[in-house]
Amino acid sequence: MRYKKFKDKQNKLYHSSRWKKIRLIVISNYNFKCCRCGKITKEKDLIVHHIVYLNKDNIDDDEIAYGLDNLEPVCINCHNKEHFKKKKKREIEFDAEGNIINVIDND
Ligand SMILES: [Zn+2]
Ligand SMILES: [Zn+2]
Repeated sequence: MRYKKFKDKQNKLYHSSRWKKIRLIVISNYNFKCCRCGKITKEKDLIVHHIVYLNKDNIDDDEIAYGLDNLEPVCINCHNKEHFKKKKKREIEFDAEGNIINVIDND
């Protein structure tokens, strides 16, 4: 299934040292602030969100996956809102670092 391959790539991305570096740059550029609600929080409570969502067609595109223009820090609440408002059928699970560990498509 193609979907599984995407998930593998996504896992790899979120565990790469490149991502971890970019993540910290994004968070410190925004002074540890959620860009949606303005809440200032700990680095580990912020999720670096892809404005253009990652999908199987764009995950290999560096500008999308690692581009600073496509990344913004959001707190867990705002991140949940962002993802759930658009795709109600999709359930996303996060680990403590805010990385996506599971995506369930119910359609
Ligand atoms: Zn927020
Ligand atoms: Zn996101």
